[in-house]
Amino acid sequence: MKALNTAELERLIKLPKFELHVHLEGFVDLTFWEEMVKAQGTWTFERAQAMQAHFAFKSFPLFLKCFGAVIYSFLSPADFYRLARYAAERLKAQGVVYAEVMMTPPFFVNRGIDFFEMMAEVDRGFTSVEIEGGPQIKLIFDGARNFGNAEVRHCFELAAQDKTGRVIGVGLGGDEVNFPARDFVDEFKWAQAQGLHLTCHAGEAAGAQSIMEAVQLLGAERLGHALGIEAGSALEEEILKNSVALDLCPHSNLTTGVLATLDQHPLEAYLARGHRVSLSSDDPGFFRTDLIKELSWAWGLGGETLVKQVNQSALLASFMPPAQKTRWATEIAQF
Ligand SMILES: [Zn+2]
Repeated sequence: MKALNTAELERLIKLPKFELHVHLEGFVDLTFWEEMVKAQGTWTFERAQAMQAHFAFKSFPLFLKCFGAVIYSFLSPADFYRLARYAAERLKAQGVVYAEVMMTPPFFVNRGIDFFEMMAEVDRGFTSVEIEGGPQIKLIFDGARNFGNAEVRHCFELAAQDKTGRVIGVGLGGDEVNFPARDFVDEFKWAQAQGLHLTCHAGEAAGAQSIMEAVQLLGAERLGHALGIEAGSALEEEILKNSVALDLCPHSNLTTGVLATLDQHPLEAYLARGHRVSLSSDDPGFFRTDLIKELSWAWGLGGETLVKQVNQSALLASFMPPAQKTRWATEIAQF
């Protein structure tokens, strides 16, 4: 990947950007983890060594193990203020002006952390950076499919109960191969009836069938990853007909071993075939990426023109109110 020169990088950072697929838990990197457990008073040399080993994962199953170890490090609502601030500061430094951040509250609530206290701290953390000129941040609660229907329903119910005003939608993540979308139709119907937007991880570790189910059975408005849409297929027709937007996460796919090289990524092919695509970082702390890195890759492929196209597409695929979208569209058109 050709690196951008200083002027190009400055211009990329200045461009008002929209991040649509990034997990709050995924902002945790070793630096954040060390700070948090030291503040908790639970840091030990052995723990730190074990966590370093986890972060050296080279496969999707080992990534999930690392993710699990991180989740278990959160002990109280105060940890979430720290994480929310860290995430918002990261986004602000990249010139992100609006983000839809995913979060899976049952991971924490099931271990005894109070949901409303946790959310109040998340809200306080985001707000503290917003008032310093940081991005506006909304939340999507992402159900963990491999924990079963009751867990996903619980996640969606928490979304409906949220009092911060930040939760605008739900999604489905986790083991797509063994826990297919068709098993979660009732949960999605329920969430839709609550007025929540619908997204789904599909086509990350499983193929076309998984994507088709997410679109046809769950009614997902946006898909995460969406690898494996064949040109001219019935699936492609379905996606185009329903204007389903695709949050592509190339460096995530590379790090989890889903793609062997970035050359295999379909970004340009999808654009050429009329898909609505955006680029996202997914789990920046785990995958050593961020939106700047994803868009720098696109810049290497098609220059500033391609970056602007992808960024504009992200704005349009976001769940922000139409009037706000129009304001940002004017601003980025003049950039
Ligand atoms: Zn994701």
